[in-house]
Amino acid sequence: MSDACKSCSSAGSCSPQDKAACGEKSEAEKELEKVLSRIKHKIVVLSGKGGVGKSTVAANIAMSLARAGKKVGLLDVDVHGPSIPRLLSLKGQHPNVDDNMIEPVAYAKNLWVMSTGFLLPSDDEAVVWRGPVKIGVIRQFIQNVAWGDLDFLVVDCPPGTGDEPLTVLQLLGEESKAVVVTTPHMLAVDDVRRSITFVGLVGATVLGIVENMSGFVCPDCGKTHEIFKSGAGEKLSLETGAPFLGRIPFDPELARAGDEGFNYLTVYPESETAKSVEKIIAPILALDA
Ligand code: ADP
Repeated sequence: MSDACKSCSSAGSCSPQDKAACGEKSEAEKELEKVLSRIKHKIVVLSGKGGVGKSTVAANIAMSLARAGKKVGLLDVDVHGPSIPRLLSLKGQHPNVDDNMIEPVAYAKNLWVMSTGFLLPSDDEAVVWRGPVKIGVIRQFIQNVAWGDLDFLVVDCPPGTGDEPLTVLQLLGEESKAVVVTTPHMLAVDDVRRSITFVGLVGATVLGIVENMSGFVCPDCGKTHEIFKSGAGEKLSLETGAPFLGRIPFDPELARAGDEGFNYLTVYPESETAKSVEKIIAPILALDA
């Protein structure tokens, strides 16, 4: 019983709405707080457009943090097009449920994964969920997953500024940090600018911008060539004040890793691409120094 209840004549017989009106937290809110208090840093990966490599970047940030010895959860809330199970070769996995808590799927040392894709009976299944249902599922994925003690939770959101990223940022709270992924093309700039404004509106912080598919790693010589004009990420960084975290080249082996579901960073730890990911996670790792 809270202090307010002690002096209230309706104490003991009031409804959840009355409790909320008095500022008392619901059981669900308390449960969410408990889970979040065990996760030190919440990183939300966003993009203005689809197909810019957001899921690839989210997965590689998570794998790179885990390789650096951090305990990491990777949560895919792309309800309509979950890519993480394919990128990590985890298709067909069905997490166990124990005592009302969902066990995340263990992927590698220090890395646990949860995805809406694990809930679908087959790849052909289309999700027809309205906003409130999606919001409920995302809440469950944070509150009712046995994440345990994590250094980082990395969340892969669908592109844009819809229900899913909004719900994630609101549930994780103002301490969550967003990484916004773009391509080098100026065409993507307006969408990214919108994503940055959106993060500010919900009271979270933009940790930085990643420019993906920036330059091409030649499979013959291993060197990176600029095939398109790059610089959209840096331009946006200057314009918005959001830090520029770095660029990841277009690397055919990274595309193959995504298609075949192998861990690129363990197969090519010395490549330019792996080094670019290491550079990008440096300021993220510094959050936990
Ligand atoms: P999004 O989440 O933005 O829709 P994905 O991460 O699913 O994008 O990536 C789309 C496609 O591009 C995938 O086939 C992925 O393997 C590929 N891809 C992403 N980033 C790179 C990269 N840097 N080099 C090569 N292929 C990439």
